[in-house]
Amino acid sequence: MQSITLLGATGSIGVSTLDVLTRHPERFSVYALTAHASVELLAKQCLRWAPARAVVGTASAAGELQSLLRAANLRTEVSYGEAALCEVASSPECDTVMAAIVGAAGLAPTLAAARAGKKVLLANKEALVMSGQLFIDAALQSNAILLPIDSEHNAVFQCLPHAFDRAKPSPGVEKILLTASGGPFLHRDVQTLHTVTPEEAVAHPKWVMGRKISVDSATMMNKGLEVIEAHWLFNTPPHRIEVVIHPQSVIHSMVSYVDGSVLAQLGNPDMRTPIAHALGYPERIASGVATLDLTSIGALTFQAPDMQRFPCLKLAYDALTAGNTAPAILNAANEVAVAAFLAGRIGFRMIDQIIDKVLNQVSVVAFHDVESLLVQDQLARMHANAFINQ
Ligand code: NAD
Ligand code: MG
Repeated sequence: MQSITLLGATGSIGVSTLDVLTRHPERFSVYALTAHASVELLAKQCLRWAPARAVVGTASAAGELQSLLRAANLRTEVSYGEAALCEVASSPECDTVMAAIVGAAGLAPTLAAARAGKKVLLANKEALVMSGQLFIDAALQSNAILLPIDSEHNAVFQCLPHAFDRAKPSPGVEKILLTASGGPFLHRDVQTLHTVTPEEAVAHPKWVMGRKISVDSATMMNKGLEVIEAHWLFNTPPHRIEVVIHPQSVIHSMVSYVDGSVLAQLGNPDMRTPIAHALGYPERIASGVATLDLTSIGALTFQAPDMQRFPCLKLAYDALTAGNTAPAILNAANEVAVAAFLAGRIGFRMIDQIIDKVLNQVSVVAFHDVESLLVQDQLARMHANAFINQ
């Protein structure tokens, strides 16, 4: 039995993870479930899985959850806050941690899981984007097993030799080719992009996801964050990571080798495939995803990304090249700008402008611990908020 802590159980990845777990009761048990504010859904999940622990964001959410669980005679221990998240992510009672909190809020618990040597299923790309080498070193030192859940990185992982070593670049690899759907605005007139609404931006043509990552897909900051994520996960320099637009979202990414071979992983766009791949790894287990029917898809197409349409992609490449705290500054400014866009406070095109301004304002520094990283994160958020309030 593999015992699982599921961070972000009520989100899109969390719900898909529980769907896969349901199919394999003989393999998995749930140690802890966490959510920020969705108390009712978390209570329902607790009734189904009877975890030892449940963690929420605030004392009042914990009180609410506690009374719902007591009424159902459930003995799950309820707690709240970051320290509790770190506890359930590093507890000796769990083997595997699914890191599916959205944004920088996932950094501390994801890092705690890596430091505790867990099998870490990494959906929370922002944590790795922010902390980079620090995160990879923590995983290497504790012998944590890092398995990518992001569909592109899971695909790349599947296309690399089984014994690849995170401390060295993979031999014979020429390039990592990350595919991108292009999001909802791939064909929209660039001149009208400033008028798009949050609802249009979150209406992704191929994937059903949380609101933040959906906006990131519309700006292509998601792909930018994924370039940085690929750099750290696969020890590959920026010039060897290429983005290819592939609107059908059937090829989830590719690895190109020096002998001219290109290996690809294909499948229907459903996150249960990478989730099942990582949960079962190194075995293969059923995910509930329908078999890919290539003849009904007919054609697969590809094009290069247009940096004028998607300036966020270039900002992310530049931040990766600048290194140190630049990716954390980029991420923090993006989180603030996306939240402001979703709240109707700024227009869509302001997102890239704010990130650009913040990157010019906050000086990039070297960092050796989480505390100094978080200082830069906070500074970037402060500048981003100041621009928005202007
Ligand atoms: P979501 O918004 O649907 O869910 C987020 C989860 O995190 C929820 O359970 C929420 O309660 C919890 N949460 C939010 N803020 C929190 C906070 N401050 N503290 C603690 N918990 C908090 O998001 P999602 O789409 O499931 O994405 C989760 C992560 O997975 C993101 O980092 C995203 O980039 C990554 N990811 C998602 C997909 C996808 O298909 N949804 C694909 C690839 C990667
Ligand atoms: Mg992805």
